[in-house]
Amino acid sequence: MDDPNELISVYEAENVTDAHFVRDLLADEGIQAVVTEEHDPIALPITPPHVLVRKADLERAQPLIDRFDEDQVRRAERPDWICPACGATVVGAFDECDVCGANRPGSEVE
Ligand SMILES: [Zn+2]
Repeated sequence: MDDPNELISVYEAENVTDAHFVRDLLADEGIQAVVTEEHDPIALPITPPHVLVRKADLERAQPLIDRFDEDQVRRAERPDWICPACGATVVGAFDECDVCGANRPGSEVE
């Protein structure tokens, strides 16, 4: 059976925060998505959360997921930076200083 309303996993997140981020990203594009932990109340907490979309939306959702993934990789590869406010060295993937909370200088806002 080919049910367009069938829910398909489009993204396996590392954590719930990422899963919610992806869900909101899809919602912004008008794609209804759910996070497995909310969808399935008996899911074990150790299971990585998945973002599910309707099969009919999969084709539209995939490029958005790919872009999110590329973004994640790009962030992870950024060099560490020095906080201009307190002088701490901050891991490149962070946009905020984990010591004082100052924003990364020149961080792009989309
Ligand atoms: Zn700082």
